[in-house]
Amino acid sequence: MSPEVSPGPAGERFVIVYGPELALYSFGPDHPLQADRYVLTLALLTSLGWLDAPGIEFEAPRFATLSELLAVHSYPYIQAVQQGQAIARGERTPADLSFYGLGTSDDPLFANMHDAAALYTGATIQGMKALLEDRAVHAWSPAGGQHHAHTAEASGFCIYNDPAAAIAVALKAGRRVAYVDFDAHHGDGVQAAFYEDPRVLTVSIHESGRYLFPGTGEVTEVGKGEGRGACLNIPLPPFAGDEAIMHAFDRVIEPAVRAWAPDLLLTQTGVDAHHADPLTHLAATVRLYPKLAARLHDLAHESCSGRWLIIGGGGYDPWDVTPRAWTAFIGTLLGRPVNDVRLPEDWLRASRAAGGDPPPVLLEDRCPDHPPAGDKDLGPVLDEIERTALAELLARARG
Ligand SMILES: [Zn+2]
Ligand SMILES: [Zn+2]
Repeated sequence: MSPEVSPGPAGERFVIVYGPELALYSFGPDHPLQADRYVLTLALLTSLGWLDAPGIEFEAPRFATLSELLAVHSYPYIQAVQQGQAIARGERTPADLSFYGLGTSDDPLFANMHDAAALYTGATIQGMKALLEDRAVHAWSPAGGQHHAHTAEASGFCIYNDPAAAIAVALKAGRRVAYVDFDAHHGDGVQAAFYEDPRVLTVSIHESGRYLFPGTGEVTEVGKGEGRGACLNIPLPPFAGDEAIMHAFDRVIEPAVRAWAPDLLLTQTGVDAHHADPLTHLAATVRLYPKLAARLHDLAHESCSGRWLIIGGGGYDPWDVTPRAWTAFIGTLLGRPVNDVRLPEDWLRASRAAGGDPPPVLLEDRCPDHPPAGDKDLGPVLDEIERTALAELLARARG
């Protein structure tokens, strides 16, 4: 094991909210978002035997209720999603729902659209409730992480915003939340949901919106009104890699979460910052993810008695990189040494059958097409954040 990866203590209560029916959230075989990203992750963790440990409980997901959806989305939008589902099933006359972002190339209509989106949202809420009701110290909703959905608009492959819906449940229970989003895309929907809310810290580290969807997430977006100083954005230059991301973690993310002193931590853990991801232009490696897991695990135990809800997110190499990165992340959290782990033959076969071409070792990385840029371009960005957004947050936390 490398010295920088300190495993979590085994035996902690860890709830995984998961069921195969979550895979009904599918825009079709040619769409970039594929359920295999988490199906093959669960398969790999199972094949390695890492989910047999004491303390790990599986819970079947349930649907988010209408009132849970209404905490985040407008009623007309939810009706439009239901209408889109009925149209896709041939039960209603076709109608143009593009005003709601539905029926677009990113979010085409499909037969289970409302039900499947309500299910992944319910799964993430259930993970949150496992923490609130003290059934678990850590919880994981692998199919969650749909951070682009807005109040009345589907966006970027996301229909309902499960992180925002889970945060709303925590707020209702009187808890203070820190949300940290590691997806390569800006967590715009979650940020917008709580932009004026002083009870939720939203942090997003992502490829700069100058180069990547959704185009937002500038350093100057720091929250508004009562919520000013409770929002941080770290836009990364193209080809930023592990070193830059960990540097940002040290200088901005960790001090922000510590100062915020949340009751619980929620991380959107998309792994599309990997250099092989076909949709983005960052240069992370698989080795980043166990490092992040170890640091976040320590941070959760130091700042909020461990209470940490992990949700999925992007990962557009769903048969190889995404399941390996998430397995390394969750394995580290479970206290497994992840270095030098050979991938089991049955999993290699499943990955290849789906279209993957994985290397023989969990953390192995093929040479990137473009070398990581190091963190020299990030220095001025972090300087600016320290002077502005982080300074406001620290002043607010002290006040
Ligand atoms: Zn722990
Ligand atoms: Zn993404």
